[in-house]
Amino acid sequence: MSTAALSPWLARPLAELLRQRGHAWLLQGPSGLGQYELALALAAAWLCEQPKAEEGGAACGHCPSCHAIEVRTHADLCVLMPEVAMQELGWPLDEKAQADIDDKKRKPSREIRVEAMRDAVGFAQRTSARGRGKVVLVYPAERMNTITANALLKTLEEPVGDVRFVLASEAAWQLLPTIRSRCLGFTLPWPATADAEAWLVAHDVPAADAAALLRTAGGRPSDALRLARSGQSPKAWSLLPKAISRGDVGALTDQAPSQAISALQKLCHDLMAIGSGAAPRFFEPADLPAAVPSHLALARWSKSLANAARTAEHPFNAGLMLEALVSEARTTLNSAPRRP
Ligand SMILES: [Zn+2]
Repeated sequence: MSTAALSPWLARPLAELLRQRGHAWLLQGPSGLGQYELALALAAAWLCEQPKAEEGGAACGHCPSCHAIEVRTHADLCVLMPEVAMQELGWPLDEKAQADIDDKKRKPSREIRVEAMRDAVGFAQRTSARGRGKVVLVYPAERMNTITANALLKTLEEPVGDVRFVLASEAAWQLLPTIRSRCLGFTLPWPATADAEAWLVAHDVPAADAAALLRTAGGRPSDALRLARSGQSPKAWSLLPKAISRGDVGALTDQAPSQAISALQKLCHDLMAIGSGAAPRFFEPADLPAAVPSHLALARWSKSLANAARTAEHPFNAGLMLEALVSEARTTLNSAPRRP
């Protein structure tokens, strides 16, 4: 991976990580800040044959090791991910797993598989092929079940030779405490708004939309980019709260159920924030309804949305689900005491 491509707000964290010794890192923080990107940059720097001294030892981007990472064939890098994430991020699956999926014997896994963890444990015990040590990268680390996590734990507790670990997580609280305590923790910083907007523009987001999309995504650049690529219009977003309080289902119909729920969760979050005297995060204050429902009503709504989110990938009937969600949202929003 070429470090030229590293998001600007990750350069300093990378240099900070490289300054410190440690054979196991846990990179944590909310989603959309670049955990995976930073983990891969760290692995690339550790394995690079000519790390750039002027950038605190970041990977050079053109030595044989960097090239091997770029084409996903580095013998000293073991990537542990759910199979869906491997596919999404362009990592090859092992032959047996790929064959099973091609033959429709099973679907790609959403968890890190025990078989993959066993391979990683074997990998950790072999000698380095290129002589610069080995790296195991785990992402998202919270997708390990208890069996996989315990297998990893054993390797973390008794590291053999020259292997280093980088775990990246968007929900570190879901990890076994024993895993967390075996790693050095590193929390990703929130990018400065200007950096994040510049990054979005560099990724072909129109400059006029960058600020609004970033706000929609709660300040998380990669989420904002995903929204831009999914065709989210900043104008429609700003009109959403009032459309929902009128019970207008049309405001959400072109979204997948999980996206619609996430939009309602953001609305609920912002009203809770205002209710407790804080600033909204996802919407402009002027776009929100003037009257804020009671804390109790919002808490009930929030809980119900969390329940809906759990079944959103397989809704019984997406249309009915959406209608029910909007109806509940409308009731909640209109339960607000009228301002004098
Ligand atoms: Zn290199």
